[in-house]
Amino acid sequence: MVFALSLSMVAQTIIHRDHEIEQMISEVSKDSLQSYVKKLVSFGTRNTLSTQSDPKKGIGAARNWVLNRFVEFAKQSGGRLTAFIDTTTLKPDGQRVDVPLLLGNVVATLKGIDPNDNRILIISGHLDNMRSNVMDRTGDAPGANDDGSGVAAVMECARVMSKHSFPATIIFVAVSGEEQGLLGADYMAEKAKKENWNIVAVLNNDIMGSNNSNETNIINNTKIRVFSEGISVLDTGKNATTLRNLGLENDGKARQLARYCKEVGERYVDNLEVVMIYRNDRFLRGGDHLPYVLRGFAAVRFCEMNENYYHQHQDVRVEDGIQYGDLPGFMDFEYLRKNTCLNLCNLANLAKSPATPQEVRVDTKRLTNFTNLSWEVSKSAKVKGYYVLMRETTSAVWQKKFFTDDTKMNLPYSKDNYFFAVQSVSETDNESLPVIPVPSGK
Ligand SMILES: [Zn+2]
Repeated sequence: MVFALSLSMVAQTIIHRDHEIEQMISEVSKDSLQSYVKKLVSFGTRNTLSTQSDPKKGIGAARNWVLNRFVEFAKQSGGRLTAFIDTTTLKPDGQRVDVPLLLGNVVATLKGIDPNDNRILIISGHLDNMRSNVMDRTGDAPGANDDGSGVAAVMECARVMSKHSFPATIIFVAVSGEEQGLLGADYMAEKAKKENWNIVAVLNNDIMGSNNSNETNIINNTKIRVFSEGISVLDTGKNATTLRNLGLENDGKARQLARYCKEVGERYVDNLEVVMIYRNDRFLRGGDHLPYVLRGFAAVRFCEMNENYYHQHQDVRVEDGIQYGDLPGFMDFEYLRKNTCLNLCNLANLAKSPATPQEVRVDTKRLTNFTNLSWEVSKSAKVKGYYVLMRETTSAVWQKKFFTDDTKMNLPYSKDNYFFAVQSVSETDNESLPVIPVPSGK
């Protein structure tokens, strides 16, 4: 029995899916994503410097259209989803802004239903785009994949998720000014910092709907990259020394979020591997997660596995038999559907999870081959229990997960040889982000 033999050789993985999240994932539609992208392309250009007064062309018409879609989705939300264009006025900066500019991010907020839960999750894509010359504000710039893909994912998540309610708040944002220097994300991240928003995760989506590379001609729609930095630029002085001593350079906020996105994403989305890249972003490029990262928030970027530079930041033209330009025909909408589901399941799992456990500690008072962990209960009311996570120091992902309804655990594995963390778990098995224990040696 060859079949029985091959099955017995496969390591067992128990996949437990929350039915509500499964249901939402099944509603994410390839056709709906395709229709958003085609509509976005129809605005001719969405360059941030383009017209704001033409009803059919330019960034102004595009952002009004996105706003109207959000307002439509809001009707099914029982008043919990609200949307507006958050504007700011910028002066010419001598770089990529050469006129006084009214910059506008289209923001939809799905208010959380737990008044004691002030956590905020952000999903972001950029509405603006560019031709070969970033200052060219009149010529056609389709921007189907960069970043029609990200905006379509944001809109589809808003459409599906606004029918559901979550303890935490989710913000869906179509950002402007990315190509002019991350201006819209910088504006929003600065506002969040000033107003002390409790942002626990920013999922930035930029170029995630096409499945092939130029030059090397790789075609693959089963892998997506998540970019994250290790140690934060804010980790300096004594804090940096502690991280170095404990070997935690791979457990910063963004990296932890990336690891979480991989685990939850692969749990819910079939035929998709989430590939962690231990970098903030690609060479020569940046994205809208960076202004959040710089201010100490956990922010990552989702980006397709193989990029095709013939279709990014290029005037639409044929040269030496090669078609240049960011056209919808080069996209893979089934791939975009899976990548949208990756966002949705992570937003939903985090928004449904309890707040993290408090005061997570590892006892380092004496030399022992055990690991003794303790923590205080999560501030959320509905906690079923906690997962203690464990991995070898060289492993990229958590390898063992122990459940307890207690607030302590003593494990026969040496704290010197493994990394540990603790998550709160809800009644429907949604885990919080992991918390790394602090040594309590004195
Ligand atoms: Zn982009």
